[in-house]
Amino acid sequence: MSSDRASLKELVAVKGTHDILPGEVEVWQTVEAAVAGMFSRYGYRELRAPVIEHTELFEKGTGETTDIVQKEMYTFVDKGGRSITLRPEYTPSVARAIVEHRLDLLGTPMRYYFIGPMFRYDKPQKGRYRQFHQIDVEVFGEKDPAIDAEIIEMADAMLASLGVTGTETLVNSVGCRACRPAFSQALRASAEKVRDGLCGDCRRKMETNPLRIFDCKIEACRELAKGFPQITAYLCPECRDHFAGVRRYLDLYGLSYRVDPNLVRGLDYYTKTAFEVIRLDAGQQNAVLGGGRYDDMMKDFGGPDVCGIGFACGLERLIALVSVKPGLRPFVYIVHAGEAAKTKAVELARLFRRRGVETLVEFAGRGFKSQFGRAAKLGAAWVLIIGEDELAKGEFLLKDMATGTQTAGSPESLLAALPARVR
Ligand code: AMP
Repeated sequence: MSSDRASLKELVAVKGTHDILPGEVEVWQTVEAAVAGMFSRYGYRELRAPVIEHTELFEKGTGETTDIVQKEMYTFVDKGGRSITLRPEYTPSVARAIVEHRLDLLGTPMRYYFIGPMFRYDKPQKGRYRQFHQIDVEVFGEKDPAIDAEIIEMADAMLASLGVTGTETLVNSVGCRACRPAFSQALRASAEKVRDGLCGDCRRKMETNPLRIFDCKIEACRELAKGFPQITAYLCPECRDHFAGVRRYLDLYGLSYRVDPNLVRGLDYYTKTAFEVIRLDAGQQNAVLGGGRYDDMMKDFGGPDVCGIGFACGLERLIALVSVKPGLRPFVYIVHAGEAAKTKAVELARLFRRRGVETLVEFAGRGFKSQFGRAAKLGAAWVLIIGEDELAKGEFLLKDMATGTQTAGSPESLLAALPARVR
């Protein structure tokens, strides 16, 4: 029966998506709460945007020549004939929200974070999904290199607070509109020389946006790209100064990092700083988080001329690395027998829960003994016993499952006997 069911397509999660079940979800909640708390300490506020946006937002924002826009978007036409896309990344949504609500006029720091699902029609494999989750952080209106360094330091602090080790921080400058054209030109010329060794995709990229060749996942292309010119030699004085400033502040923090001149990141909108934290022991899907500066995006949207910088961290990849394993919160399991006891159990469960105690009462009609077995199996810290004697007296028994000790008393006195941490 169950194998018949499992073979039905509609009873299996869509390819590239996954359930996060109880047992695992507690780790997610712990990580989410820890990062949200950390971002608050750096002055970030949460900004929640819809899952769907107009397709043009990503075409314009993420960039026409990126793999995301070219190959990976979940796009559909809705019943009103609009082209809608499930967000493949978050930055364009934040930029849109700022323009739409004129958040730039409020005078408050524009530091936003968000944690939620993103969608990319990519080839699923370990560490790469079609619905995945990102922690996203964005700062707008700060052009000083000190913020670039602060954001990289915050990413580092986030990983450290979760006990993540074995990672390396890579930084680079990808230049700006003033200096990148000359670099692209040089890159195109170099790529032309090895054209036959490049994959079809890279040959296309050579024409449209040669920087994107560095994103190619094919080993032969990656090898050839190592011999290409490096952006560092082409940076204009402003970009060079900015990058020096970023490194100066990173050094001030005492952060260890490596300058990687081939780090360009897969998005068109980056200007100046690009950075990534990679996992040293992983193969292809080794980027835990990545980000950079995007000083032209808002202006290109037709919005105000406000610069921005941010990063996104994949939660699936982060969670694979965290060492925190939250335990079960201690809870009370109510054992009851008979109709009157069941009514009392319902009342007491409500009372205990209102006092902040996690309480479980079930109605499967199990016998007394079987309910004890169930409490033990579920890992209850205490069992509250409601039998006929207890009902008659209005006094109940609370059994500590670890020690076996039983305490008798009124509901109020039993509540008071529970350790303060569970109330
Ligand atoms: P990106 O938005 O492409 O710069 O990616 C930022 C981070 O999101 C990466 O470093 C990964 O941790 C995560 N990520 C991106 N794409 C996927 C995916 N398809 N599946 C899982 N995680 C992803």
